[in-house]
Amino acid sequence: MPKPKSFLRRLQIDHAQRSHNCQHNSAHRIRQGGQRLKVTDGRDQEHFCVPCAIQFLEGDVAKLQSLIAALKAAQTTRLAEEVLPPSASTAPV
Ligand SMILES: [Zn+2]
Repeated sequence: MPKPKSFLRRLQIDHAQRSHNCQHNSAHRIRQGGQRLKVTDGRDQEHFCVPCAIQFLEGDVAKLQSLIAALKAAQTTRLAEEVLPPSASTAPV
């Protein structure tokens, strides 16, 4: 069995080496040693302050839950179609 894949490997929490602005809102300051969310995209990295990170991750959780629900619905529909004999789907109800 192949190892389960994760789409979240590019997200990490780390500590700022020096103080800098949040990359979503330059009014948000991340102080040296403060925690931040690091997002790696290829060779690019972005860093977000904790409140922004929580907001984005909560939005992503909601999106992931709706994707899972949609995929489960598709799976259930497909399984139902495969289980029913071909005549059953065309039979009058
Ligand atoms: Zn921020």
